[in-house]
Amino acid sequence: MRDVLDPSTGAVVDRVPELGPDDVDAVLTRTLDAHADWSRSNVRVRRDVLREVARLIRVNAEHLARLESAQAGKPISAARGEVGAAAEVFEFYAGAVDKIHGSTIPGNADGTLLTFREPIGPSVAIVPWNFPLLILCWKVAPALAMGNAVVAKPASQTPLTAIALAELAEGAGLPPGTFQVVTGPGGSLGEALVTDPRVRKVSFTGSTEVGSRIMALAARDITRVGLELGGKSASLVFDDLSDDQLDACVASSLWSVFDNTGQDCCARSRMFVHESVVDDFTERFVAATEAIRIGPTGDGDTELGPLISEDQRAIAEEYLASAQADGARLRTGGVRPDLPGSYLTPAVLDRADVGMRFMREEIFGPVVGIQSFRTEDEAIALANASIHGLSGTIWCRDIGRALRVARGVETGMLSINTSSSVHIEAPFGGVKQSGIGRDQGLVALEHFSELKTVFIAAD
Ligand code: NDP
Repeated sequence: MRDVLDPSTGAVVDRVPELGPDDVDAVLTRTLDAHADWSRSNVRVRRDVLREVARLIRVNAEHLARLESAQAGKPISAARGEVGAAAEVFEFYAGAVDKIHGSTIPGNADGTLLTFREPIGPSVAIVPWNFPLLILCWKVAPALAMGNAVVAKPASQTPLTAIALAELAEGAGLPPGTFQVVTGPGGSLGEALVTDPRVRKVSFTGSTEVGSRIMALAARDITRVGLELGGKSASLVFDDLSDDQLDACVASSLWSVFDNTGQDCCARSRMFVHESVVDDFTERFVAATEAIRIGPTGDGDTELGPLISEDQRAIAEEYLASAQADGARLRTGGVRPDLPGSYLTPAVLDRADVGMRFMREEIFGPVVGIQSFRTEDEAIALANASIHGLSGTIWCRDIGRALRVARGVETGMLSINTSSSVHIEAPFGGVKQSGIGRDQGLVALEHFSELKTVFIAAD
């Protein structure tokens, strides 16, 4: 058994089993049995079950939010938002079940050419600890909608909402075995799932390092993979914003990096600001950062909670030290407030440079670097000076420039004059080392299905 800890207090919230490779055979045997039935189920049955899961998430929202807040160290207001978004994911895929299909194709032969869109097969979802419930839903809901049975392995720090979701799903009428949650170490249990030849698809969200390993392991059996990996996203702030717009840019940019205490793959942790406004922007950004309310996660007014663990805080502190050693200037933050748990005040560094390690590597903590630029081309080059390409924001009144820059930035997602980058209706994922494939939107259904081409002779 393994303790699940509350990062804001260090208290034990619950205990969960530690499964290992020896347990995988029984789990997958059950999955295969369930898949045989679920993959042949009527789409209306699937639609109704998914709709009911969404309803039960809403009915149990406060319970789920408290679990999520406790295990992940999230402010309760943020956890409530995440649970609401999780319900929306199931609502979206309940409505999408019957909107994806094969097609008939004009052919030059004497007959009919068509495609069947079929479930991809028994699937595995491996998810991280930063948005444990929501990211799980991004994978499980489309997998189920497409008619696949799925086994989920949550991060070891945050298994509780995954377990609760599986219970709700069974309560919603999902046949037993169709969605199972297994808890245990990624390096042993996770790899045993990935390398089992009965698994047809692995959908993973986590670090680039582990994603690369999973891709290599999956290569043996040509198991399909979807990988949502790390990011080092950029905000680009141009020089044509009005005073009010600059305020709005600061208010939004603040949360584009510090939301979830910076433990967000989309965190815009590199800010590139035109040289004529960089001083003004930085002053306002520092003031806004210092106004963020840090506190106990159960307090409704708290905006920022702790990092997930002491280890994660130590990583952020180490990057802060390296940033300063490399010549960046710490303007605010980076101290441990007088609170139990792994808290760290959000840190802003200016005089940053993309050559510095803290501007190149994903930190997954509340740390942002600000660097100035002179020209549009330089802004694009700075944004692209990363192995990652997940998200990004452009702040600019000139729509022509905004669109030119949007085309130039190598990224999977981009927002203009807002930091909002997650929409259940739209594909979510990255380019370069930020991953392969997409979660969310109708495209996720494509990634949980295969096309079969069928030709029927006319006579
Ligand atoms: P990890 O990659 O360490 O772990 C993610 C999941 O993979 C966990 O469930 C973990 O299990 C499991 N795992 C670990 N090693 C293996 C392995 N060898 N084989 C199979 N599974 C394994 O990431 P973190 O938990 O540290 O999450 C943070 C990372 O996730 C960040 O890099 C972040 O950018 C990324 N992320 C990406 C997102 C995206 O959509 N692109 C969204 C959110 C996060 P265990 O916990 O037991 O080790």
